[in-house]
Amino acid sequence: MNHPSVSLHYAIMRYLKCSEVGLSLFFVFFLTTWAPGPASCEGDRPPNFVIIFADDLGYGDLGCYGHPTLRTPNLDRMAAEGMRFTDFYSAAPVCTPSRAALMTGRLPVRSGMCSDTRRVLFPDSAGGIPESEVTLAEGLKQKGYTTGCVGKWHLGHLPQFLPTRNGFDFYFGIPYSNDMDHLDSGPNGEARSLNPKVENFNVPLMRNEEIIQRPADQTHLTQRYTEEAIGFIKKNKEKPFFLYMPHTFPHIPLFASEDFLGKSPRGLYGDAVEEVDWSVGQVLDTLKNEGLAENTLVFFTSDNGPWLIMKETGGSAGLLRDGKGSTWEGGMREPGIAWWPGKVKGGELCRGMSSTMDLYTTCLTIAGAEIPTDRVIDGVDMSPLLFQTGPSNRDEYFYYRGQTLYAVRKGPFKAHYITRPAYGRGEAEPHDPPILYHLGIDPSESIEMNDRFPEVLKEIEKAKKAHLETVEEVESQLEKRIEP
Ligand code: MG
Repeated sequence: MNHPSVSLHYAIMRYLKCSEVGLSLFFVFFLTTWAPGPASCEGDRPPNFVIIFADDLGYGDLGCYGHPTLRTPNLDRMAAEGMRFTDFYSAAPVCTPSRAALMTGRLPVRSGMCSDTRRVLFPDSAGGIPESEVTLAEGLKQKGYTTGCVGKWHLGHLPQFLPTRNGFDFYFGIPYSNDMDHLDSGPNGEARSLNPKVENFNVPLMRNEEIIQRPADQTHLTQRYTEEAIGFIKKNKEKPFFLYMPHTFPHIPLFASEDFLGKSPRGLYGDAVEEVDWSVGQVLDTLKNEGLAENTLVFFTSDNGPWLIMKETGGSAGLLRDGKGSTWEGGMREPGIAWWPGKVKGGELCRGMSSTMDLYTTCLTIAGAEIPTDRVIDGVDMSPLLFQTGPSNRDEYFYYRGQTLYAVRKGPFKAHYITRPAYGRGEAEPHDPPILYHLGIDPSESIEMNDRFPEVLKEIEKAKKAHLETVEEVESQLEKRIEP
């Protein structure tokens, strides 16, 4: 929870109700005992949350993460004004499970939102996010938040699974990936081409529960998402809001508007990423212009690593090994940037371990909302990292591919029980004993350390066993299909 002195400040503020005398007394108290934290002197209004989620963007794809030719001035500025994370993880190496984990604070294996046979939801899927899950939007609704989702959902396209049935007051976007619904009349492999045609991808664009355009004009999708996001912020600025903005790009097929097409030195992939970067800048500028910046936590990250087999139209994991689909670091370690002027100190680098599931717990905690206690929640509160009040609450990470646990991280050590290259490139290989790497010494997972740290595997084995005891078998939502 909050720093104790911060909670005390909150309590005193409420008691004194910001009266003039109260304010001066509070000011003296504040000056003598202030510690950084999420509390503010704006009454009881909890802060706004904006989560911006790129699709298939790699660890090495931003200027502020070392990419030499991709230009991301807005995300670089966000990092300069906020905090950049080195060890931030998605909870799965692919879209649907990763999104489910962010929305539920739980590993996808607990909600059934993963599968060893079908990686994600498809247009013929009959499943989706179970009603029993408490989404981040539903959790924040307890505290009176207005909630909006703008972008790619991918947690079920049938009516009962849409954002509007899962805690969001507003939805604008596409219900699944932009390469699905490819028409047979389009050329084979068009999704990965450098010249895809909008009309060959029959993806629906939705407002709330209605299809408003099909095929969606993907060329202007980032622009339209941005307009809708800005509209949502302006319309709801008087009360707390949660905006979840899962971008469609840089997932293939790649499209960009005329303002960005053909402009990036990184090619078409760069065009799409640079437009997403522009969009982030628009959102941050809107928050500043509307006077909301000091009362809004914005977090930027990606759902999974780069789709390497797409070659030029896939991204880069930088110095991390492998990409999308894999439990090597490149598949799940993502760029992570937090921005909250006046609360999150600018220009900081955070090396503490954290994850998308932690965003769930952190937002609910800061909002003062209840976190479900009748189920396992894998997210931990990352406030100590954000507000620099202590070490990370997370010391372990569990890497799943589908429903199977492949690797375990404890501190800087990572043990691979099974390895398998990213999608499309080979079979699973079990390891007994597991292969041990030290991610501090060797972030690229290229030097086996079993002989050097023989005692570590016992600790990891213990953590793995304790974790697996908390996992119950549930029905996979990804394997259910609509009857033809
Ligand atoms: Mg993805």
